[in-house]
Amino acid sequence: MSELAYKRTNVYEVADEKTMKAIFDYAEGYKTFLDEGKTEREACAWAKNAAIAKGYKPFAFGQSLKKGDKVYYENRGKNLYLIKIGANATAEEGIRILASHIDSPRIDLKQVPLYEADGIALGKTHYYGGIRKYQWTTIPLSLHGVVAKKDGTVLSVAIGEGENDPVFYISDLLPHLAQRQNAKTLGEAIEGEGLNIWFGNIPYTFAKEDKDKTVKENVLRILNEKYGLEEADFLSAELSLVPAFNARDIGFDRALIGAYGHDDRVCSYPAFTALFDEDSENRTVMVVLADKEEIGSEGTTGMQCALFTDLVDEIARAFGVSSAYIRSKSKCLSADVNAAYDPNYAEVLETNNATHLSCGAGVTKFTGARGKSGSSDADAEYIAFLRKLFDENGVIWQTGELGKVDIGGGGTVAKYIAKMNIDTIDIGVGVVSMHAPYEVISKADLYEEYLAFRAFVK
Ligand code: MN
Ligand code: MN
Repeated sequence: MSELAYKRTNVYEVADEKTMKAIFDYAEGYKTFLDEGKTEREACAWAKNAAIAKGYKPFAFGQSLKKGDKVYYENRGKNLYLIKIGANATAEEGIRILASHIDSPRIDLKQVPLYEADGIALGKTHYYGGIRKYQWTTIPLSLHGVVAKKDGTVLSVAIGEGENDPVFYISDLLPHLAQRQNAKTLGEAIEGEGLNIWFGNIPYTFAKEDKDKTVKENVLRILNEKYGLEEADFLSAELSLVPAFNARDIGFDRALIGAYGHDDRVCSYPAFTALFDEDSENRTVMVVLADKEEIGSEGTTGMQCALFTDLVDEIARAFGVSSAYIRSKSKCLSADVNAAYDPNYAEVLETNNATHLSCGAGVTKFTGARGKSGSSDADAEYIAFLRKLFDENGVIWQTGELGKVDIGGGGTVAKYIAKMNIDTIDIGVGVVSMHAPYEVISKADLYEEYLAFRAFVK
């Protein structure tokens, strides 16, 4: 990295034995969270249970908050708010907000998914978030989600994670017959309507009449016998296909972790563990685990929902001040991932301003595209505040921009919080192959993200 105009610090290069152990131990807890929380609902439940174990109590509107409270607000099972109001906290200090998201790109089943074609039972899908479709073919997929039945019961589904579970699959062409497909562009080779899930191949009929035997009916029979489901129940279901493989160390030195859904669980896990591990009564802290970031932070469980400001209002009331006052004093770290520098694709990244693997938490002043459009572009003064904070607390961090100018771009939840008059900047972990079924991050960056959050909330 000697070619860099601004030298970064490689965490592994400077870590002593004790720090190395701390980095690797912390990564083990994170890998468990990844494997047990592959969807926003599972990650929400996981973090909620961790909060309950730390003494957090449920909050409902109609109750009032007071100093010394530690509460959680679970929004529709997909979005979690954790709030700590320090017993000695003041309104002048505002709220320290860590906002990350727990939804990840995936393949959702449509509401009428099941059909049969040429002896194969298949499922129609509509992908969620920005995916490169060809990456999702010919890998084992597990089925996660809920089926809400008319009688009010909600069935949780997770098939394909157990050792003896079946998995699901999206086919692709064999090279022998791919001549025409190979001539297409990568973006066109696999179409959205081509992402059909393989569900079964054994014909059956309820009526036992040979002429009516169908594979689709057999799949419905199994769903009915095993889960009590009927075909119409798909209408009120949220079922998603996610990669069936678990988090694993990558490389001989185990410096990196490969997993599904680092974006953005690699920031969510440090956010809530930093809150739990810093027990200062001098601060008011809010951790947001948002849903729907990958499709624009919309809806009741996304960052744009009024719920965020409603909860800030409740905190303001605990101090006897206006919401406007406490927001003007608050600070936010929008905790989301960035693209890590990848020597295989160096041409899309500007090396001096990219996030480099194992060089610490990546602070991103602006996101957006085409002249920073769609970005909240954080203030220089706020970055100066963070420089001081991180340097005083021994946090290794770097600056990082998402790719070369005009190559592409992206956004995060930062702009939705910034427009509430709250100082907000993006800080995240660099990810290789972001939005792929198997993404890669550095354990050292994960750990520095955690240390940065601890410094911010202590
Ligand atoms: Mn993200
Ligand atoms: Mn993303």
